[in-house]
Amino acid sequence: MTKEVYDVVIIGGGPAGMTAGIYAGRAHLKTCILEGMSTGGQMFNTAVIENYPGYDSIDGPGLTQVMEEQVRKWDVEILYKHVTGLKPQSDFFEVAALDGEAIHAKTVILAAGSKPRKLEVPGEEEFQGRGVSYCATCDGAFFRGKNVAVIGGGDSAVEESLYLTRFVNKVTIIHRRDQLRATKHLQERAFADPKIEFMWDSVVEVIEGQQTVEQLQVKNAKTGTLTTLPVDGVFIYIGMLPNTDFLRGVVELDPWGYVVAGEDTATSEPGIFAAGDIRTKGLRQIVTAVADGAMAAMAAERYLSERGL
Ligand code: NAP
Repeated sequence: MTKEVYDVVIIGGGPAGMTAGIYAGRAHLKTCILEGMSTGGQMFNTAVIENYPGYDSIDGPGLTQVMEEQVRKWDVEILYKHVTGLKPQSDFFEVAALDGEAIHAKTVILAAGSKPRKLEVPGEEEFQGRGVSYCATCDGAFFRGKNVAVIGGGDSAVEESLYLTRFVNKVTIIHRRDQLRATKHLQERAFADPKIEFMWDSVVEVIEGQQTVEQLQVKNAKTGTLTTLPVDGVFIYIGMLPNTDFLRGVVELDPWGYVVAGEDTATSEPGIFAAGDIRTKGLRQIVTAVADGAMAAMAAERYLSERGL
């Protein structure tokens, strides 16, 4: 029996991948989404979403569920597989999964998103899951009444700090500069919140504790002074790294590892498209990811029909 060849295989089930699935399904393309963990990607781990039109406020798991239900309405398969490789063959693409299976596709949409950047200081690995976290939505409630630190000064750090104030006694935002990168609206809310304090021009040197996190050694980048900050937890939000290790040598990547692709989502390899946080772009948001997903599915459909595939 010859192996089934999908019209479209979408790698990644975040907002970009799920939207690509909805559009490809509606175009009656034989489509599957390969997802290594659970659908939703970074969106799933977001506590509160207030800038996705149509919802004044919704949590990440809630929006994920709505999107997934919409995908399933269109006969799109969602397979839980971790993708390890992608190889162009003569007339199809071969997608390799960790479980040894090879999936064949006429077109591929890369929507594997990104993962949290690590701080890379002593104690970070050791205390992961024992006080070190990259997900306030997942772990915030464990720190009820406690003192925590959040590292970073971008939208994620500030937004998740605001979320953490629901549970914790105090959040100390530790930022390496004296100005936040986060949008003004989030900054204003954080500055007005009595539970949030700031340590400016500061970098964490070591995360310390016995069984769980107990304190941080924080260095002032301007004066060199070292301060011990007692905390029960530390949430690290210092940006993202694209999930593109399996794409080296397959499509062109920029120096930071993002897939080079414009608004049309076309990559350097005909038949492979890139959508969402994984591609080179100016604004990484759920709304821009879903826009990419729609573009990529339509580009894949055009690619197939132009070649009579
Ligand atoms: P980001 O915008 O890249 O911010 C990363 C923050 O971490 C910056 O403040 C940066 O400092 C700091 N940082 C980076 N490397 C560091 C290191 N080694 N040590 C200490 N600090 C370090 O990342 P993000 O906040 O995760 O956001 C990612 C994207 O998602 C952005 O485009 C953001 O707008 C978007 N996002 C949007 C929303 C929203 O709209 N509500 C929510 C979350 C995320 P510097 O400022 O000094 O560079």
